Order: sequence, then C-alpha cells, then structure tokens
Amino acid sequence: MIKRISRLPKNLAPKLDLSFEFFPPKTDEGEERFWQTLEKLAPLKPAFVSVTYGAGGTTRRRTLKMVRQITKRTNIKAAAHLTCVGASKEEVNEVVKDYKKVGVNSIVALRGDPPGGVGEKFTPLPDGYKNAAELVSGIRRLGEFDISVAAYPEKHPQSVDWQADIDNLKRKIDAGANRAITQMFFDNDYYWRFLERTEKAGINVPIVPGIQPIHNFKQIANFAKKCGANIPDWLAERFEGLEDDKETHALVAAAVAAEQIIELEDGGVSEFHFYTMNRANLVLALARFLGRKFR
Ligand code: FAD
Repeated sequence: MIKRISRLPKNLAPKLDLSFEFFPPKTDEGEERFWQTLEKLAPLKPAFVSVTYGAGGTTRRRTLKMVRQITKRTNIKAAAHLTCVGASKEEVNEVVKDYKKVGVNSIVALRGDPPGGVGEKFTPLPDGYKNAAELVSGIRRLGEFDISVAAYPEKHPQSVDWQADIDNLKRKIDAGANRAITQMFFDNDYYWRFLERTEKAGINVPIVPGIQPIHNFKQIANFAKKCGANIPDWLAERFEGLEDDKETHALVAAAVAAEQIIELEDGGVSEFHFYTMNRANLVLALARFLGRKFR
C-alpha cells in the first residue's frame, strides 16, 4: 500500500473541507428529501454543495432551480454542474449566464455522456463544446467562476492510455479549473498512484477524492461498472447476501467507507467530496469518523 504522509497530531492537522453532491429531484417527495438531507448536512459546514446536470442536459431547469434555492435559502455555497451534451456553445453559455444571474459562481464543468451512458461515443454538436477543457475556457471567458472538473483515478474509459488521460486533465487545469474531483473509487491505491501521475505532470490543484457511500451495493456496483470504477472482490464479498438485510448492509457500508476515508486522511487528504445520492445518514456517520473541526 502506498501511503503519503503519516497522521499529523490533531492540533497541527489541516482543517477538513467537505463537499456534498446532490441530484436535482424530480418529484415533490424527492424535493422534500433533498431539503431534509441538506438541513441534516448543513451543520458540517460544507465548503460547497453541488447539484448534478442530467444526461443530455435533461435537468437544465431543475439544476438551476435547486442551486438558486440553495443560494436563497441557506448560507451554503452552491456549485452547479454543467455539461456539453446536446447543446450549442451559445445555449451552454446561456446556462452559465443564468447561474451567474442567480448568484451561483461555482461550476463543475463536464463533457457529459450521451444519454446511452459512458459506453457510447460522444459526438458534440457542430457548434457545441467538444470536451470539458473547451467548456472550462468558455466559462472563463464569461466571468469570474470557481471551476471544478472531473478526474479519474482508474483512467477515463475513453482515454486511449494514461498519458492521454493525464494530458486531458492538464488541459482542463491549464484552461482555468481550480480543482479536480475524482470519480468514485474503492481502492485507495488507485488514488495515490493517480496523485503521483498528476504531480509528475505538474498539475498542482487539489485532486479531491469523490467518496461514494454504498447505500445499495447492487446499484452502486452496476453504476461503477459503467463508469470504469473497479469493485474489488473483497468489497463484493463484504456485501454478499445482504440484499435483504438493510440494517447490516448499512453497517457494512459505513465501515467500508470509514476505512477508506480514514486511510485517505492518514495519507494527508483534507478535502473530501461525497456523492450523497440525496441521503444524509451515511455521510453524517462518516463525518463523525473524520472527527475533526470543520470550517
Ligand atoms: P473530458 O475531460 O472532456 O474527457 C472525456 C474523454 O475524452 C476522456 O477520455 C479524454 O481523455 C477524452 N478527450 C478529451 N479531450 C480530448 C481531445 N482533445 N483529444 C482526445 N481525447 C480527448 N455527467 C453528467 O452528465 N452530469 C453531471 O452532473 C456529472 N457530474 C460529474 C461529477 C464528477 C465529479 C465526475 C467525476 C463525473 C461527472 N459526470 C457527470 C460524468 C462525466 O460527464 C463523464 O465521466 C464523461 O464521460 C466525461 O466527462 P469529463 O468532463 O471528464 O470529459
């Protein structure tokens, strides 16, 4: 196992920055859960909460609505995801301007996937942004924004090799991104090796690990497969046979993610991005394991 730095005494350790990712709810019930979850997580004083942008730009209005309301109703900084899919540069620029109008200056800039998923070939519109790096440049031209981009500790499935993958991340950072947030991963060695690669390439923005609490192993395993994130055998074994035992499943999920984040923290990581799936409990439990003062 590759470890970076050993655990610092608590009084010398950097403060933790947590961020939480939500998806824009489709129903009134979903919206209620969204706000309940946000209310539960707010005391952790997140650096920001982000709201995803559905495949093919399908949630354009809902993403805008949620980030506007977060900005209006809470003191939490909202970040809006944005993709290049199915829209011209002009249309995407309009969305950026809408975000700015409602006071959202933080954007997670992505290429996005075709509606069929990451396995399908992405074909940009002739007048559309071709990739996330182009999108970052486009957003920068429209004003002052805090921009996050995606990074892949196990390589993006469409990158021909590691060189292409890291070169692409470098282009996004050089275009003006402030940080990268990683795809989910369950074996920290991928992350440590990825940090070595990015350091070698002169990428010096934070590479924030994206932590996926496992609310439902089967669902997460399917999704991980589509994203090119490996499910190690030991992880599958831990959840084996727990499909109908929600309580034990939740305990195992908390233990597994706690192990992961504590090891990352021991290695010097002080920023974590949680894929909440609009649920609070596992994230709340994990924040307790991290157990430091939050900003
Ligand atoms: P890019 O950085 O553009 O890269 C995509 C692929 O194209 C890579 O393989 C890259 O190597 C290659 N590439 C890029 N430019 C070039 C070039 N000039 N020449 C050759 N190859 C090139 N999806 C959504 O739809 N909505 C969301 O809200 C969303 N949020 C996400 C949040 C995070 C933190 C992460 C990690 C992913 C998210 N995604 C989201 C998924 C993301 O859209 C997909 O992973 C998508 O396949 C790639 O997006 P990207 O921004 O990494 O693309």
